[in-house]
Formats: sequence, structure tokens, C-alpha cells
Amino acid sequence: MNLKDSVSSLKGVGPKKAEALGKNGIYTVEDLLYFFPRKYEDRRSVTEIRALQPGKEQLVSAKVLSRRYSGNPYKKNTPLSLLVSDETGTIEVVFFNGRYIAKLFAVNREYSFYGRVTENLGRLQMVHPEFHPSGDPADARGIIPVYPQISGISSNEICRLQKQIQALYPQLEEWLPADIVAENRLADPAYAVRHIHFPDDGRQVLEGKFRLIFEELLILETGLLYIRSDSKSGRNGPVIDGKCSGEFIRSLPFSLTEGQQEAWEAIQRDMASGRRMNRLIQGDVGSGKTAVAELAMFAAAKNGYQSVMMAPTELLAKQHMQSVSAAFSPFGIRTGLLCSSMKSTQRREVLRQLQSGEIQVLIGTHAVISPDVAFARLGLVITDEQHRFGVSQRSLLTKKGEDPHVLVMTATPIPRTLAVILYGDLDISQIRTMPAGRQPVHTVRTDGEGREEVYRFVKEQLKNGRQAYVVAPLIEESDKIDARSAEELDKELKKFFSGFCTALVHGDMKQEEKDNIMDAFFQGKIDLLISTVVIEVGINVPNATVMVIENAERFGLAQLHQLRGRVGRGEAQSYCFLICESDSETAQERSRILCSTNDGFKIAEADLRLRGPGEIFGTRQHGLPELHISDLIRHGDVLEKAKNAAASIISTDPLLTAEQHQTLKEKVKKMFGEEIKLEL
Ligand code: ADP
Ligand code: MG
Repeated sequence: MNLKDSVSSLKGVGPKKAEALGKNGIYTVEDLLYFFPRKYEDRRSVTEIRALQPGKEQLVSAKVLSRRYSGNPYKKNTPLSLLVSDETGTIEVVFFNGRYIAKLFAVNREYSFYGRVTENLGRLQMVHPEFHPSGDPADARGIIPVYPQISGISSNEICRLQKQIQALYPQLEEWLPADIVAENRLADPAYAVRHIHFPDDGRQVLEGKFRLIFEELLILETGLLYIRSDSKSGRNGPVIDGKCSGEFIRSLPFSLTEGQQEAWEAIQRDMASGRRMNRLIQGDVGSGKTAVAELAMFAAAKNGYQSVMMAPTELLAKQHMQSVSAAFSPFGIRTGLLCSSMKSTQRREVLRQLQSGEIQVLIGTHAVISPDVAFARLGLVITDEQHRFGVSQRSLLTKKGEDPHVLVMTATPIPRTLAVILYGDLDISQIRTMPAGRQPVHTVRTDGEGREEVYRFVKEQLKNGRQAYVVAPLIEESDKIDARSAEELDKELKKFFSGFCTALVHGDMKQEEKDNIMDAFFQGKIDLLISTVVIEVGINVPNATVMVIENAERFGLAQLHQLRGRVGRGEAQSYCFLICESDSETAQERSRILCSTNDGFKIAEADLRLRGPGEIFGTRQHGLPELHISDLIRHGDVLEKAKNAAASIISTDPLLTAEQHQTLKEKVKKMFGEEIKLEL
């Protein structure tokens, strides 16, 4: 048998099973070797019942003494409780789908049970253990692999197939360069694959896993570096000297923070280098990314180039327009706005002025990428809140000029190691300092009972001339979800806050209506703004000091952090109230995290941990290939090593033409497939 043979050549694999395997990307015997267990059962030895330890997975061998239902026996899902015993003691075994399971057990017969032992009211229990009649072939001893679910094929069957192909291990030859193997102390592939399937002890699993994780991440990084070198190689960019922005910096009502300063220095280096800039500015909400963008646009204008800044919502574009045009007009720099809601005569005029070069700085929504938008001399392209746009939108914008500099800004504070992967084609600057005088937002969680007290507090703040936000997750009352809708809240709060000016803004409103309300809030004419999540992104009203979030349990951690970021933007102490109607574990954990820190980077890490990486990276929405054994979060340290190794390979052999890199090249192509076309 050969590694490249089809799985159909295996005993027990007919057309149906072959199809099921194929659906999971397993076509060849080699693919099957690289289909790894999800976990192991340590069935090396039987534990006596009196020696069982709660909290651990253990194997017992015991006779069934009695079977009884612990609910209505005529119901399908009524729980079944077995009392089982060996010579040393008894333990209760519980199954939930009892009626189906009951048939599989006979009183007085011996079975093996494998599972986590728990303690319930002083009694030991196993809930839903694996079980087999004693002596059954499946009642094996040893460390038994458990494979991920494939519909139509059980883990036991996969295990049998894996045993059939054990003889092929020696065919897995080392394909990594010797220096990388030595430097990272990698096990060879045959050893790694053998022991990931059939280990004798935990150490072998770890050694094998390390090799296989390293390998997968190396393939990933090599592919990403290849793409990155392609997008950067030899691209000339306009030479823009940033020194002239000193004049603008002096005009600002504040001095730059350290993080802003560093980001600006990096941008200056990039823009003066003669190469095209490709930079991501990552900074928490309120860290002052806009000012950095303004410096770059100012420099571009003074060097005779146009720039464009794209924002994800009209609201945000207009707000940017207001502050940018106010900042630039004293210097004679002309700004223009482009949104899809504009009248066509207005729009035509903006397009004309762009083409003639009269408008030096264009601000807008994705309307700026429509085909009829043309520039005279575009030198700088900025996307704000980058995570809201697809990669393709970013590149469309770039094509409006001859290799303009590219700056993308995001408040999604992902850990650096991950950012390097997600934005592999970008250089990264992080702004980790907040403007001076900012106080952390005081965050409090409460349930429905505390609601009235919260609103009384809000009233006090309004009396002191402050403004406040109330956010509700839904627009209209719905039968299905009992969340407090914004409209219902609006009515209720209007009464409570009589004498103050309140307003409701939600996603179903006409753009103009929304803008008018936001504008009035911005100008301080509205005291209390009740809204759905339309205010999530980027709105900046420093006088607002309270954020109340109704049904906070319905928002994700990152979203809550973004919402909270709307306050605490001025010098006054700000407050955020999370009103939670649910006590679910995750909801509690989320509010615990929010109450304990204001650091967006810490929150992002916690968010990834809570959600699990699969939810973010499994979707492929970031254009990353699927990973089988590595977890980008948990294996961050291996990732670092793999990245260094990939960098050293690509630096000596950028096109992977060397003989010793052919297997790597093949594996990179296989991982990235058609989705990212590698001209390797
Ligand atoms: P974000 O990074 O979320 O886009 P903004 O650019 O909207 O943040 O900035 C938030 C607020 O902080 C704005 O009112 C801005 O004028 C102010 N700001 C920016 N930089 C500084 C600074 N260095 N010192 C004081 N205030 C600043
Ligand atoms: Mg912003």
C-alpha cells in the first residue's frame, strides 16, 4: 500500500464510507493518517470503585445491580439510573435517554464504564460514560484515541482503519530542513503520526503533537509570507515627506500620546521610503486613531497628493467630515464628502472636484469605491474600522490610484500574534496609550431589580449637564424574544425623564432622520439618546458620561466594550451600567471581565477564550485556511517559532524552488487551495 492510495482500498471502506470520508477532506490513506484524534481515553487500567477520584476520567469494571428510571418511565427521554458494583463498592451510572439505553443492560452482567466521575450529594456518579460488555473486543486496554465526529463512521471504525495503515508510518519521511528540525527539537513525522494515534503514554502524545502543530503552522505561515512578499515586492509608492505635518500637530488642542507618536513615526518612515505603505493601526476605542490619520492626510495634501478615508457608516463618515474639515480649512486644504444618500447634483459636483484635484481630502462611506469615482492624484487610502470591510473592498479602493499608500485602522484589539496572521500582508502599529486625563469607565452590573436606581443615577448626571446613552438590543417588541425593545423603552423613559430631551434612534429609520438626531445629540440638544446598536461604531461625544446597556447578556464581549467606549471620552468620570436579565455562565463571565478592566486588548483575549477560536477562525471570513490540529490562540508560542522558521525559508528561497522545499510547497498549495491563488 502507498500513501497516495485511495481510502477505498482499505478493508471496510465501501463507496458510502469513502464518500463520508471525502466530505471531511479525507481521500487518500495519507489524509487519513493526518486525521487526528480529538482526545484520548486512558483505559490502561481498571480503577477499583473505592479508589475512584471525583473530577477525573476513569475506567471501572462492574456488575449491574439494579436499573430504575428516575422519572416517568413512559417518556422517551426519562433518565435511567444504574446501580453498579465491584468487590470494593457501588456507584451510580446515569443516562438521560434512558428508555433507549435500558435495553442494552442486563442485571448481574459485568460491563466496563469509562467517564468522568462526579460527586452528587456525597455519592459518586458517572453521567453518560462510554460502556461495553466486559470482554467485548471494544473493551480494550490502553490509551484509546477518540476521533472527531464524521457522520456515518464511528470513532471505533476510524480507529480500526488507522490500525490497518500502521505499516505505512515508515513511508512518512522527514521533509523539513534539518536545521529547523534541530533548532525546534521536532520529532520526525513517522514518530509523531504513530504516537498521535496510538501513544503508550502522555509524553509521546505531546512530542507528536508539537511536531504536527509546528508543521501545520509552518505551512500556514509560509503561505502567508509568500502572499505578503508578493503584495509588497518592488511596489513603488509616492514619496511623501511628513515633516510638514509639524505645523498641523502644533495646531492641535492636545499633544500626541506616545502611541500616536510612534504610529505617526512609522507612517512617516513608510511614506518617505519610496515603497508603498501597507500599515494597520490598531488602537482601542478612544485612543485617537483619527488624529493619526489626519496627520497622514495633511502630509499627503502638502506634498500634492489626494487622500481618501472610507468609514463603515454614513454617521461616522459625516462625523469625520466635520472634524477633519474644521481641522484642515485653516490650512487651506479642501475636503469633500461622498455618501450614497447624496443628491445626484451634489454628487456630480464632488466627483468633478475630485477629478480636477480641487478636493484634496475625500471622506465617505463605501460610496467612494463606486466605479465612477476618479481621482486626479490619489496618494493615500485610509479605511476606518477595517474589520467592517472585506479585503476585496480595501483592494478596490487601492486601485483608484497608482499604488497609493494604504493605512487601515481598527479598534478590534486582537492579540498581536493573531493580528500578524489575520493581516499578514500588513505592517502593524499598536496604540496602547490613552489620551491623558482619561479615567477608566466605572462599570457596574445589575439585574432588573437595580434598573430604577440606575435611571435615577442617570437623571443626576443629566441634571449636571451631562448626556447619556441607553442601548437596547431590539427595535420592536417581539413575541419570540422578551428583550426590552428600544421603542418600549423610549416610551417608558420619556415619562421618567420628563423635563429632559430624549430621542430614539434605530436602524429602521431613514438615514436623514437618524443623522438629524445624532447631530442634535452631538450638539448637546438631546440629553438622553435611546438607541439600538447603530451607535456602536466610532461616535464621539465627549460630554456623554453614562452608557446604560439593557439586556446586556445579548451582546458579545467585544460589542459591549465598543459600546462602553462611547463614554469616557472627556475628562469627567464616566459610567457604564450593564443590566442583565440572565444569569447564564457566559453572561456573568462577560460582565465580570468588563467590570474588571478597560483594556481592550485584555478584553479581546478573554473574548477569544470565551468564544473559542473556532467561532472566529472557523468561518473563514478572514480568508484564512482551515486548521486541523493547531489553535491559534492556545498555540501562540509555537506559532511564533513556526513564523520564524517560515521567514528563514522564504528569505533564502522566496519561490520555493529549491529541491528540499518541494514537499513544503506541495503542502502550502494544498492548504491554501484555490482560495488564495499561489503562483508557486
Ligand atoms: P478612535 O481611536 O476611537 O477613533 P478618536 O480618534 O475618535 O478615537 O478620538 C477620540 C477623542 O480623543 C477625540 O475627541 C479626539 O479629539 C481626542 N484625542 C485624540 N488624541 C488625543 C490626545 N493625544 N490627547 C487628548 N485627546 C485626544
Ligand atoms: Mg475612530
